[in-house]
Amino acid sequence: MMNQINNPGLEKFDISDYKGSSGVNFYEQDKILQRMVDRYSAYFTPEHRKDMHNHLSGYGKLLGGILNDLTLASHKEGKYGEIRKYDSVGNRIDEIIYSEEQLQSRKISYDYGVVNLDFHKSWNHSFPYIHRYALAYLMNLNGEGGVSCPLAMTDGLITALKQIGTDEQRNKYLPLIAGEGSSSHFMCGQYVTERVGGSNVGANRTIAIKQENGKWKLIGEKWFCSNPGDLWVTTAKMEGTNTIGMFLVSRYKEDGSLNEHHIIRKKDIIGSRGKLTAEIIYDGVEAEELGRPSHGIANLIRTIIKASRIHVGLGACGNSRRAIMEASAYSKFRTAYGKNINAFPAYKSQLVELQILQSICTISNFRMVYHAEQNTKLQDLLIPLMKYKSSSLASYICKSAMLCLGGNGIIADFSPIPRLLNDSIINESWEGTHLIISDHCMHALSKDKVRKEWMEELSANIKSASSIQVFSDLIVFFHNLLTKWEALFSNSKQWKEANRIYIIDKTYEIFSLSLVIQEAASHYDEQSKIHFHYEHREEIYQDLAYAYKEILEFGVGAYKAPDGLFMNQEKLDRLLEYLS
Ligand SMILES: Cc1cc2nc3c(=O)[nH]c(=O)nc-3n(C[C@H](O)[C@H](O)[C@H](O)COP(=O)(O)OP(=O)(O)OC[C@H]3O[C@@H](n4cnc5c(N)ncnc54)[C@H](O)[C@@H]3O)c2cc1C
Repeated sequence: MMNQINNPGLEKFDISDYKGSSGVNFYEQDKILQRMVDRYSAYFTPEHRKDMHNHLSGYGKLLGGILNDLTLASHKEGKYGEIRKYDSVGNRIDEIIYSEEQLQSRKISYDYGVVNLDFHKSWNHSFPYIHRYALAYLMNLNGEGGVSCPLAMTDGLITALKQIGTDEQRNKYLPLIAGEGSSSHFMCGQYVTERVGGSNVGANRTIAIKQENGKWKLIGEKWFCSNPGDLWVTTAKMEGTNTIGMFLVSRYKEDGSLNEHHIIRKKDIIGSRGKLTAEIIYDGVEAEELGRPSHGIANLIRTIIKASRIHVGLGACGNSRRAIMEASAYSKFRTAYGKNINAFPAYKSQLVELQILQSICTISNFRMVYHAEQNTKLQDLLIPLMKYKSSSLASYICKSAMLCLGGNGIIADFSPIPRLLNDSIINESWEGTHLIISDHCMHALSKDKVRKEWMEELSANIKSASSIQVFSDLIVFFHNLLTKWEALFSNSKQWKEANRIYIIDKTYEIFSLSLVIQEAASHYDEQSKIHFHYEHREEIYQDLAYAYKEILEFGVGAYKAPDGLFMNQEKLDRLLEYLS
C-alpha cells in the first residue's frame, strides 16, 4: 500500500518542464549563421536574398520540429538500418532496410531542396554555396542523423557529374540523384578505403579491368561503405598499371539485374548510426569511368573529397552548435545551491567560452566556403584546415557541453549531446585523419601561390581595423602571432614534420582571429559595410574579438585576465544571450 505522506522526492522540480532546444527554429535563433548568410549574399538581388532567407528559415523550422522528432525516433535500437541479403524466394537483393522514420526524414530534406534546389522548377534563382552550405550546417544541428553523410556524398557526386561527367552520364544520373521528385533520397556513396588502409589511396588493391564495350569490371573489396544505395563513385587500380582510376557504379545494371557486388557486413559504429556503413565485395561489378581514368586521384580530390571535406567542416560546426544550444537551454532551467546554474561565474564563463569557439569556427568555415566557391588557390589550405579544426573542436565542445548538463548529459535519451559527440568523433576520421589532413595543409603552405593568397587574405581581413584605435591591442596581438607563425617555417624539415598539427593549429588561430577582427571592424568602415537583412548587434563582435584574443593568449579553459572580458559580467551576459 502506498504511503499516505506525500513523497517530497517525487515533487515537481526545476527541470520538470525542460524540453531542451527542440521546437526552436534553428535558423532564426542562430545570429552568427544569419550574419554569415548576410555577408556572403550581399551581391544577391533583394528578391533572391529574401527568398533564400525564407527558405533557410523554413528549413530551420522543420529541423527544430518534425526532423528533430524523426531523428530521435530513428536513432533507437530496432530502428537502425539493416542489411537484407536475400528475398523470400532466395534471390540475392543486397538491400538496406531503413525505418520509416529514417526514410521520412530523408524524403523531407530531399524534397525541400537541400541538395538540389537548383533542380526545382519553382526556384527562380541560382543556388550558390552560401545557401547550400547554410542548409548543410543547419542539417547537422540534428547530428549526422543518417542524412548528412549521405547529403555530403550526394552533393559530391552531383558536383563530379556536372564537372567531369559525360553528357550521357549527366542525362542519365542527375535526374535520379538530384531530380525534383526523385525517389532516390541522398542514396549516393564514395568507396575508396580498403582493408589495407584509407589514408594511402594509392595502395588500393581493387583491380579495374577494361571491357570491350568501354565499361570496366571491378574485382576487390571496399572496407568502409557508408550509405550503400543507388549510385556511388569508387577507386580501383587499372589492370596492368599502378594508376588509380575513379569509377561510377550503379546498383543495378542496364538490364535491371543487381550489379555484381555483395554487401557483406554492417559495421558496428559508435556514431553516425542513422545511415549504415558496410563492407562490400566487388565481384566483377560493372563500372563506368568518371573523368579520365588516368586522372582518378586528382579528380577524386577536386570534386568528391573537396565537397565532403567542406561538409565535414560545416557539419562539425553544426554538431557543436546544437550541443551548446542544449547546454544553454539546460542552464536556464537547472538550479543548484538555490541559484540558477548559469549565475555561477565559473559556469557562465565556461559556457560563453564554448560559444565563442563555436561561433568563430562557423565564421571561419563560411570564409572557407567562399574560397571554395571562388576556386582560389587558398582553398587548398582552407578546406583541409577547416575539416581538421572544426572536427577536433566539435569533439571538445560536445564533450564539454555534455558535462555542462552534469549526469543528465551522459544519458542518451535525455539530450542529443551524446549522439552529437559520437558523430563528431567520426568526423575526425573520415575524409582524412588529422595527421593526413595536416600534411595536406603543409603541402598547400609550401606552394608560393597559396602563400601569396594567404597573406593577401590576412591583410584584407584586418585592413579596416588597422586604422581604428579601439582595435589597436588586437592588431598588435595579431601581428605578434603572425611573426611567431612565420618563424616556425625556418625550423628543420624534420621538426616541421613532427610538429605539423601544432603548426596547423597556429595557422587556424591566425586565420580565425583575422576574421573575427574583420567582423568587429566592418561596421566602422563605410567601404566594407554590408547591407544586412537581419539586425546585428555590432558591439557584440568587438567583445567577441577581444574575448577570443584572451582565449588565444592564455589557452582554452585557462586563465582569465582580471581586467579581461570574462570578468565583465555585463558583457558576458550579452554574449551569452546573443550566442545562445
Ligand atoms: C563511420 C565511418 C564511415 C566511413 N565511411 C567511409 C566511406 O563511405 N568510404 C570510404 O572510402 N571510407 C570511409 N571511411 C573510412 C575513413 O575514410 C578512413 O578510416 C580514414 O581515411 C583513415 O583510413 P584508415 O582507417 O585505413 O587508417 P590508416 O590509413 O590505416 O591510418 C591509421 C593511423 O595512421 C596514421 N597515418 C597514416 N598515414 C600516415 C602518414 N603518412 N603520416 C602520419 N600518420 C599517418 C593515421 O593518421 C591514423 O591515425 C569511414 C570511416 C568511418 C569511421
